[in-house]
Amino acid sequence: SLICSGKQEELGDQRTPVTVILAQCESMLQDPEIEEKQKVQVEIIEKKARAMARMISQLLLLSRADQGRQQIQKERLNLSELTQMAAEEQEVLAEEKDIRILTDIQPDIYAQADESLYIRMLDNLISNAVSYGRKGGYVKVLLCEEGNMVRGAVEDDGIGIPGESLEKIWERFYRADASRAGGSHSGLGLSMVKWIAEAHGGCVEVQSTPGKGSVFTF
Ligand code: ADP
Repeated sequence: SLICSGKQEELGDQRTPVTVILAQCESMLQDPEIEEKQKVQVEIIEKKARAMARMISQLLLLSRADQGRQQIQKERLNLSELTQMAAEEQEVLAEEKDIRILTDIQPDIYAQADESLYIRMLDNLISNAVSYGRKGGYVKVLLCEEGNMVRGAVEDDGIGIPGESLEKIWERFYRADASRAGGSHSGLGLSMVKWIAEAHGGCVEVQSTPGKGSVFTF
């Protein structure tokens, strides 16, 4: 195949390096002759490459935003459906920690929003809630309409955030407790979430009690 023959460069391949790494991993994992030991190794490469892709896309968004070049394509969206989908997509990740994802989403809320940015905002809030959540606990995703505004929240019953860190978590590369969440966290997620909320004319806030949990509201 093209992937194996290394001909992409000659063909002027537009894919990013990480996309190519992920495609190579996938093709190796599909090979019926792969040995168990190698399979485990390739799975680690794949997992880390996904984390790297995430970090790169956060960095790109923030630097484009700094230059006023991050595009926002607003269209009329059913936010209720998108929010439900975003919550369901994190269920597999949540199951690994035995966390239940609950939703309380008012149906058929429509708003002008950029679909991919909205999904990225929610993915970040929900995956944080799972990462910093309590094993065996819950994550709750809420959405409702208030007048001409939409209010959403992601709540967890996890480790919470100490008071002295509450202001700083929105800063780039800031991490309240670097030892807890593992290597795929770079401290850029909430800076991106804040930018996305503000780019939609909104804002995002946090309330948290250490040892009890956190609620992020947008
Ligand atoms: P990271 O990549 O470290 O998760 P974020 O910008 O998404 O970066 O979050 C910054 C910091 O805020 C995290 O390192 C963590 O300390 C804290 N944090 C974010 N979400 C939560 C949460 N739901 N519960 C507790 N701490 C959180």
